[in-house]
Amino acid sequence: QWIYLDDRFVKKEDAVVSVFDHGFLYGDGVFEGLRAYNGNIFKLHEHIERLYQSAQSIMLHLPYSKEEMEDVIVETIRRNKLETAYIRVVVSRGPGNLGLDPVNCTKPNVIVIAEPLALFPQELYQRGLKMGSVASRRNRPDVLSPQVKSLNYLNNILVKLEANQAGVDEALMLNDQGYVTEGSADNIFIVKNKKIFTPPVYLGALEGITRNAIIDLASELDYSISETPFTRHDVYTADEVFLTGTAVEVIAVVDVDGRVISDGIPGEITNHLLTEFRKIVTVDGVH
Ligand code: PLP
Repeated sequence: QWIYLDDRFVKKEDAVVSVFDHGFLYGDGVFEGLRAYNGNIFKLHEHIERLYQSAQSIMLHLPYSKEEMEDVIVETIRRNKLETAYIRVVVSRGPGNLGLDPVNCTKPNVIVIAEPLALFPQELYQRGLKMGSVASRRNRPDVLSPQVKSLNYLNNILVKLEANQAGVDEALMLNDQGYVTEGSADNIFIVKNKKIFTPPVYLGALEGITRNAIIDLASELDYSISETPFTRHDVYTADEVFLTGTAVEVIAVVDVDGRVISDGIPGEITNHLLTEFRKIVTVDGVH
């Protein structure tokens, strides 16, 4: 396995970073998770845009142009002879001293890892997930924007731990006003009377690339879809609930806080969107 690290490709065993890297010391950096389907990197441009926006927001200056960054990602899957892969791009502040001031970090570290895709079991898509709301709240946008995919994912990790403790598959994260935002690493949608809703991102959800692709796809398929604030009550009483994300694609939720959603099986619209989504992923991207 070849890893892109610090301007070159190195073997996995040699892919090590300094303990003085502020990505390690402070979670100071940004990342992206992408997916390649049959050699096609799904929404590469969108992921690159989001990476650069995350970096701009935390005053991290990437040492490459967007085009160079895209080339590095494409080359990483080529080198590893992968057609279908999960790709992780990490940009850390780089090595500095023990103080947290990034001013002492001279050069960001750019890392690209591509691995064969560990597919979620098909059985999970047929069964659907159990979700539970958690006490931790989505961080407020006036502090650190939820749009920044920062290396400091402790908030999301705590939420995941809460979900594990509660014995559910995924966490339902609310904002500080109690509106539904998203899962620990995926966006949420509900369906009511054949209409699809997802929370507006200003409530505190990451503007997921899969989320946006599903909004476009649903409109093309003539579904009514809108960004509307909703609460847990709306989720409990929905006809269908599903999550979207690079890793999960589209996955049904059949139980939320012990409330069984409809018949407790993945809904018709959810299944339709998943089927259609899997058709577009191999064409809508960069080869
Ligand atoms: N929400 C959070 C907090 C995430 O980390 C992710 C994963 O990237 C998502 C949602 C889903 O976004 P995307 O569809 O771009 O993978």
